Amino acid sequence: MTDLVVAEVFGPTFQGEGPSAGRRAGFVRVGRCPLSCSWCDTAYTWDWDRFDPAKELSRRGVDDVLAEVDAMDVDLVVITGGEPLGQRAGLSALARGLHDRGTRIEVETSGVLAPSPDVVAVVDQWNVSPKLANSGMEPARRIVPDALAAFVATGRAIFKFVVVEPADLDEIAGLVDEHRLRPVWVMPEGTDAATLAERLRALAEPVLARGWHLTPRLHVLLWGDRRGV
Ligand code: SF4
Repeated sequence: MTDLVVAEVFGPTFQGEGPSAGRRAGFVRVGRCPLSCSWCDTAYTWDWDRFDPAKELSRRGVDDVLAEVDAMDVDLVVITGGEPLGQRAGLSALARGLHDRGTRIEVETSGVLAPSPDVVAVVDQWNVSPKLANSGMEPARRIVPDALAAFVATGRAIFKFVVVEPADLDEIAGLVDEHRLRPVWVMPEGTDAATLAERLRALAEPVLARGWHLTPRLHVLLWGDRRGV
């Protein structure tokens, strides 16, 4: 039986971000991430200076995870992290199981690890979130051109950028042109409703002017930074 290191499985709730925002969904949040974004709101999946992996993560059979998702009565499952592509065998088994049930699958990833063909064959949408300088990491760590090209080649990827201030949009434009990333979704960073609303307002006009999309973080507007919703 194939295993997956999981941080949390939760739902039904709403997909909070991107093209499917507002859609009823179940979530599988896997553990571990090769990156370390300064503003990461799920650091409990990877930051072992601040969190205890023995408490935060559990190794579960994929069949067990599928049974929990089955009980949610959802037709969309979002596989997120952490970094889902860090667990190739587990992701493949989970995605195949969901696909066999007729469930729509979205995978959220930082885009630094290319997907394998068997997973590409069954995932409906890749929500790829390349990280900007505001993440505090060196470019070579957060931007991997071959991996981004692999996501573009799927024809089923959207590119979602976490923005702290409107000046970040110039950096996005450079990445979008260099790596041919389309469509572009801009999402404000923020883990409370007031910050999020203020940043959404500041971003609205400049994002429209560039021909891009803007997404809220619906779960933050509804529930703040509570886990598991
Ligand atoms: S890629 Fe995602 S999970 Fe990993 S550190 Fe950055 S925000 Fe957190």
